[in-house]
This record gives sequence, structure tokens and C-alpha cells, in this order.
Amino acid sequence: MNAEILAIGSELLTPERVDTNSLYLTQKLNEIGVEVVGKAVVGDDRARLTAAVEQARTRVPLLILSGGLGPTEDDVTRDAVGVACRRELVFQQEILDAIERRFRAFNRPMAEINRRQAYVLEGAEALPNDRGTAPGQWLADEAGVVILLPGPPSELKPMFERECLPRLRQVVPPRYIVTIILRVAGMAESDLDQRISPIYTRYQNPVTTILAAPGDIQVHLRAYGASEPEARVVAEEVSRQIEADLGDRVYTRCGESLEEVVGKMLEARGATLALAESCTGGMLAERITSVPGSSKYFLGGWVTYTNRAKQQWLGVSEQTLAGHGAVSAEAAREMAQAARRAAGSTIGVAVTGVAGPTLDTGAGAGGPKPTGLVYIAVADKEGCEVKERQFLGERERIRLQATQMALDLIRRRLFT
Ligand code: ATP
Repeated sequence: MNAEILAIGSELLTPERVDTNSLYLTQKLNEIGVEVVGKAVVGDDRARLTAAVEQARTRVPLLILSGGLGPTEDDVTRDAVGVACRRELVFQQEILDAIERRFRAFNRPMAEINRRQAYVLEGAEALPNDRGTAPGQWLADEAGVVILLPGPPSELKPMFERECLPRLRQVVPPRYIVTIILRVAGMAESDLDQRISPIYTRYQNPVTTILAAPGDIQVHLRAYGASEPEARVVAEEVSRQIEADLGDRVYTRCGESLEEVVGKMLEARGATLALAESCTGGMLAERITSVPGSSKYFLGGWVTYTNRAKQQWLGVSEQTLAGHGAVSAEAAREMAQAARRAAGSTIGVAVTGVAGPTLDTGAGAGGPKPTGLVYIAVADKEGCEVKERQFLGERERIRLQATQMALDLIRRRLFT
């Protein structure tokens, strides 16, 4: 079954408020096999909303509206849906009684305008709201189902779960969705797509979507089936081919972040980690410690930004800094080894580079270095591996890519 969502509220058309209800609803609908094929934000405007409801109902059998059920003049949802669906609004004394009880419970007088919230579309079921005053509404007619939900997420969510999902399960034909999320490190989006598009374009089910972020690409495979196992078989068939093609560039098949994957690997091996960061200024440590339980494997790190700090705290040698500069394979190696030694960790990792945007003049040490040049070193008891990369883009993008590559190098080191 296909659905559309209308988020109502003029505030949602400003930069101040974001429509999050439709994201929540989409997730819940997908879980029961309903596909959201369109959504829109409509301001508090009766005529516009009426037209939007009329049009949406010609396209889909399920329409969900959020917001605009309050008591004030600009809460137009009830009226607009009434006009669009050719239904009168009928006053229901029980709803007004419930609203009055709610006000009494909070020791507040009920304003006369709250009577508006006791009007229900003719033939619709009122959906009780135990978190607020506005009841929701469920209207089923020959054109399909229209659901009216209150705008505040704290009211919408429990109402949808308690009142709407059980009703929807009865009208939605059983259809299950299984999603596999492959995440890939160390590849450009165009290279990845060139490799895997011959695989996924042969299938309409699953639907494949590629989401790219700096140094990190997600391949979402959404498969449909009449049962969960059937949908899983469809998703697996394509996933296996893509995974075989990309090999160890795929770091997860269940959507986890790279820092979570690396954390699990460190923990499983009883290994520990220490860091020495320069151009990433602690960003790598921040990513690693954003994972709950990271204290089991992350010992600590140094942010050594100046040459002096690298020398004083990590003992990077004068000759290295004078001869090759702080952005060099030699400096990265010394930093990683020093961090490992000082912390007593299994692995020591260092990142040093030019995040830009101003050119590194090199100050006589190894000559000028281009923006985006980064060295990453991973030291363990076997030795120290150093990689050089030339990243493109703005400062934040370069820093993010450097952390991504460092995490990926740790991951690869842990394979061996
Ligand atoms: P109330 O009875 O509380 O007035 P309502 O149904 O009229 O309920 P709105 O007035 O449209 O709801 O919205 C109330 C608040 O709920 C908004 O200020 C906003 O913070 C939040 N809200 C509304 N719609 C959304 C949405 N689509 N996503 C996230 N938050 C929303």
C-alpha cells in the first residue's frame, strides 16, 4: 500500500522548525510494509490544505496529516479535511468532557475555544489523546483512509502506535520490508557506482539507494516480500553479489558506523588504542569515544598541534621536524610510536596533515605542503605503517576524511 504524509503548520515552512513527524511516520509505515510515496509541508491555510488533501486522495489510499488540530483560528486541519472529504463536522460531548477533565486535572479553566477540538468528521473515529487535548481522527471511506494526528511529537507518537498501527495492520496487505545497509570506506562514490550498478540495476526488488558522505558510502538495499524470510532472501541475493565485488572495503552490513565496527574489533581482540592527533585536533578521539563502552579499548591521546608540542609531549625529534616538517611520514611514524609507548597500548595511531585553507609554507622544513595532504601512521608490535593521502575539499571535509581513513587503517590492521 502507498501513503502520503502532509505536515501542517506555517512554522514548519520557516528555518526555525523541522518536520520530524513525517520521518517517524515513514519509519513506522515502512515497518508494516507501507511505502511513503510523497510528502509535503502545508502552512495554516484552509484553501491550500483542502486542495492538498483532495489531490493526495486521488493518488494514494492512505493519507496521514499531522498538526493543525489545536483550538485556535489557525488550526485548520479539521475544517479543510471536512471540505475535501465532503464531511460535516459533528460535535461530540464525550470529547468535550474529556478535554474539560484534562483541564481540571491541571487545575486550569478551559477556554471556550477548546470546544473546537470536540468536533469530529462525520463517520470518523476519534482517537484519544492522553498527552494533550486534541483528539486524532481516523476516517475510512470509499477513497481510502485519512488519519489526522496532533502536531507535537510527544502526542503524535503514542497515538500513532496505540491507535493507528493496529487499525492499519488490518487494512494493509501483509508485505514485509527488509533493509540491508552496507557501508563502504575508502572509495569514491562514482567508482563504487561504476562497479556495483551492473549488479543492482538488474533488480527492481530490492530498491537500491546510495548515500555518500566524505570517505563513507552507504548502500541501502530495501527488499519487499510477502513474508520476512522472503524479503530477506531477495535482499541477500543482491547484497552477496555487491559484497563479493567490493571485498573488504565493506566494513558493515548492518549500518553501523566505522568507529563502532573498529571498537567491536578492538574489544574482541582485547586490544587497546592510543592516539596522537595534529590536524584532526581530537576529532578522531571524539569519534572513537562517541561509542558507548569505548573505555574498554581506548586509553587516551594527545592533541599536539604545534611542533613544540610534538617535541615536548611525544618526543618527535628535532631532525625530523627540521628535515621533513611536521606534515611528513617520518613525523607521523614518530608520533604513533610515541603514543603507543607512552600509553602502553596495543596500537598507536597518528594523524598529521594540512587541513587548510591557507597554504602550509613548510617554514623551511621539507618545503611547502599542499592543503589536504595527510599522513596517517598505525604502529603496533609488528612495526609501523604510514599512508600518505591527498584529500580534496574544505577544511572540515579534509579533517573528516582523515579520521575516516585512520579508522579504516586500524580496521585493516586488525584483520591481520
Ligand atoms: P496543539 O493542540 O498542541 O496545538 P496541534 O495539532 O495543533 O496541537 P500544532 O499547533 O500544529 O499541533 O503544533 C504544535 C507543535 O508541535 C509545534 O509548535 C511544533 O513544535 C510541533 N510540531 C508540529 N508539527 C510538527 C512536525 N511535523 N514535526 C515536528 N514537530 C511538529
